[in-house]
Amino acid sequence: MSALDENIAKLAPHLARIGKSGILNHIAGKPVPAAAGAWFDTTSPIDDSHIARVARSDASDIDAAAQAAKAAFPAWRDMPAAERKRILHAIADGIEARAEEIALCECHDTGQALRFMSKAALRGAANFRFFADRAPSARDGQALPSPTLMNITTRVPIGPVGIITPWNTPFMLSTWKIAPALAAGCTVVHKPAELSPWTARILIDIAEDAGLPPGVWNLVNGMGEDAGRALTEHPDIRAIAFVGESKTGSAIMAQGAPTLKRVHFELGGKNPVIVFDDADLDSALDAVLFMIYSLNGERCTSSSRLLVQDTIADDFETQLAARAKAIRVGHPLDPATEVGPLIHEAHRKKVMASFDTARTEGATIAAGGTRVGDTGQFVAPTLFTHATNDMTIARDEIFGPVLTSIRFSTEEQALNIANDTAYGLTGYVWTADVTRAMRFTEQLEAGMIWVNSANVRHLPTPFGGMKASGIGRDGGDWSFEFYMEQKHIGIATGDPKIPRLGT
Ligand code: NAD
Repeated sequence: MSALDENIAKLAPHLARIGKSGILNHIAGKPVPAAAGAWFDTTSPIDDSHIARVARSDASDIDAAAQAAKAAFPAWRDMPAAERKRILHAIADGIEARAEEIALCECHDTGQALRFMSKAALRGAANFRFFADRAPSARDGQALPSPTLMNITTRVPIGPVGIITPWNTPFMLSTWKIAPALAAGCTVVHKPAELSPWTARILIDIAEDAGLPPGVWNLVNGMGEDAGRALTEHPDIRAIAFVGESKTGSAIMAQGAPTLKRVHFELGGKNPVIVFDDADLDSALDAVLFMIYSLNGERCTSSSRLLVQDTIADDFETQLAARAKAIRVGHPLDPATEVGPLIHEAHRKKVMASFDTARTEGATIAAGGTRVGDTGQFVAPTLFTHATNDMTIARDEIFGPVLTSIRFSTEEQALNIANDTAYGLTGYVWTADVTRAMRFTEQLEAGMIWVNSANVRHLPTPFGGMKASGIGRDGGDWSFEFYMEQKHIGIATGDPKIPRLGT
């Protein structure tokens, strides 16, 4: 039996089980269908086959979940942090125990290749452990004594929060948002993406098996325009942590305005990777390929614009095209596969529309530019060369395995091109000149920058974007800043010397 057949066989019982039960909501500790009895279907982008029917929720389901989160909040907030820490570690244990199942289901639901998804499940567990360990210090503050007061600060959890996640790496992203919220002492209503709802269901089962009290974490499935919108408008939901498209972020900000929602946004990107001619070009080539073609290019931090110095551009682009053509596109459960199918037919069509745009705009398609096969949502890893930064293919987020290469001659030009974008999520700089690296990164408009490296996440560091790429930061203590309220308490240390009126 091939490794692919073995993985398909391992997936089969999970597929049969979810097909039978459907993907239910989870409210106040109980799996429930949508109150109105509505459903939608989730399918696999591998072959468009049916996976399961999914609860199609509306504002009444969101209200039930928000009420459950509100009711569970005081006890969760007041639970000793050491106990919350123990439960979050138990969730991480549960994720590790079911990592293979999670990876297989995620691949089938999203089309992401197993070689990356097996690590994503473990990253999810690492997120829980990281924030579990920080739970006991989440409330710590400072002592800021003044001549008449002992001023102390403390933090308290903000209350029930809404978490809305996208479809690209749904399991990892859900853990990334939910773990710090729970560690801070907040309760949660999670609305996963309608295109990949499966592993969010597994995750909440793991959490409650690990001893998470009912109502602390609630799951509501449905469309963005109804369930998502209702969550952002609900008066008992104190904050919204959202990962998704920039235009959805704008909509959520408007929807949340009447209830003064605190928002945290991780949005889109059109991230530059800048390769100077003095760089280690072999490593730069590997990194450029990895950061656009891994995870099907459906990755917010992908380096989708290559800025390459003209002195090395011919050779660099030739090598890139050869390697892009050699990337193995195939079934995501085949361990050899590097690029799987895109999430959905509509998304494949959107990605493929960029091929026509590239031709119309006068760029060269140096690799790919085609669909792969007649079934499933596969496209060939694609490279556009001879592009300029004013072209649509250099401006719009394509969110697929599609790289746009733009040439520059001077450092100043590279910086102008890099910053000439609506987005500001990540930037990658390749140069052997450390002074230039310092100078360039100082002026590059991006929330996260790597020099001579691909994107390597270190959980204590801040994660987030500038400009249209986001508001706020996750990671380390930054996550707690969002999920908690900062309080100041001033206690008089002597005569309060209060001015006397009306004497
Ligand atoms: P999307 O914005 O279409 O959807 C994301 C989520 O928002 C889904 O759950 C959806 O149902 C919900 N939603 C849609 N409309 C809503 C509304 N009006 N009110 C409330 N919720 C609503 O994004 P997507 O297509 O699922 O994901 C791809 C996008 O996510 C890309 O732009 C990508 O760059 C971005 N992304 C960003 C990061 C980051 O960390 N910056 C990480 C991953 C993905």
